[in-house]
Amino acid sequence: MKKFKTILFLVSLFLLAVCVLTDDLFKGDIAPSLLGSDFETQRRKMVEQQIRKRGIKDSDILDAFLKVPRHCFVPDELIYLAYSDQPLPIGEEQTISQPYIVAFMTDALHLSPQDKILEIGTGSGYQAAILGEICDSVFTIEIIASLGNRAKLLLEELGYENIKVKIGDGYQGWETYAPFDAIIVTCAPTQVPTPIKNQLKEGGRMVIPVGSLYRQNLVLLRKVNNQLIEEKILPVLFVPMVDTSGKTY
Ligand code: SAH
Repeated sequence: MKKFKTILFLVSLFLLAVCVLTDDLFKGDIAPSLLGSDFETQRRKMVEQQIRKRGIKDSDILDAFLKVPRHCFVPDELIYLAYSDQPLPIGEEQTISQPYIVAFMTDALHLSPQDKILEIGTGSGYQAAILGEICDSVFTIEIIASLGNRAKLLLEELGYENIKVKIGDGYQGWETYAPFDAIIVTCAPTQVPTPIKNQLKEGGRMVIPVGSLYRQNLVLLRKVNNQLIEEKILPVLFVPMVDTSGKTY
């Protein structure tokens, strides 16, 4: 009888351990991070439902979204939302844009594989990674050092040798590598900064949210005969472009 009780006790202990483990496994973030293929499924769903269905057909763009592991660009505690249809906080009161907005802005630039791109507002580095998949080289500027350094490290870890990250004020652009075939701005000034207008190549395209704190339009600019042709394409909401003292431009 005593032997039976001991066996019963050991079996219960084992079952309890199994329960605790599996519960932990499927409760929170641990499950997806253990199941690599689950992220791939989520990525495919995101591309299909949020991007392709809404009209983005360019196969280079769709392939880039299928490849870049968006869950690596969001904070650990939000990994379960990495592929959801929304922007997410990334710290320092900044956000990683909604996947569709990243796709829409990328599409508006009409990129070619040989293009050299300037991005202002590195943030998490996700948009830069998408551009890095499609184009020859990407130069991205972030004003908040902690964000810029984290993005730089992550992009290096993921093997993006064609992306250069700089900490600084993007209002000035990046003269050393100018002119650029395309410029993408992911923070909103009230006017298009003159230095970056000058750093756009003839025939180049720029997408930039322009407006006040709560009302902005996504503007597409094209340089033709050294003139900028402007087209408002979508009402949007981005964080403001600021200078090094935190003042909005
Ligand atoms: N493209 C990013 C999202 C950017 S959020 C991504 O894929 O995650 C906008 C970013 O612009 C913020 O990180 C903010 O710090 C940065 N920013 C604001 N003003 C800036 C400026 N003058 N120069 C460079 N970056 C700036």
